[in-house]
Amino acid sequence: MNQGILFRYSPTSESEEAQLVVPIHERQEIMKIHHDAPNAGHYGADGMFERISKRYYWTGMRSYINDYVNNCTECNRYKPSNQKTSGLLRTAVYSQCFQTLSIDLWIGPLKSIRKEMDYY
Ligand SMILES: [Zn+2]
Repeated sequence: MNQGILFRYSPTSESEEAQLVVPIHERQEIMKIHHDAPNAGHYGADGMFERISKRYYWTGMRSYINDYVNNCTECNRYKPSNQKTSGLLRTAVYSQCFQTLSIDLWIGPLKSIRKEMDYY
């Protein structure tokens, strides 16, 4: 506690710089400064956590940041998804019955190949 302001030393960080413990009504402003400002760059959740946790701390900070980034309208509108689009599901069309057969074979127990490799 320094002049009525609570600071914290992170037990997991090697930094000797204290983290400011942020009250609830100040968290939104910190998020705006570190995410929405023109020079903030709309970092992703991991980058935001790295940047903010260097100087600030509050309980549930990671999930708060995740929720904030996931609900950012700018990010949702302009950031492209890295996931491939799913392919179209196609059902095979057969001209006659039993044109294709599938057999589910059960075999085993199998020996471990690794033990045989060690033997040689
Ligand atoms: Zn954003």
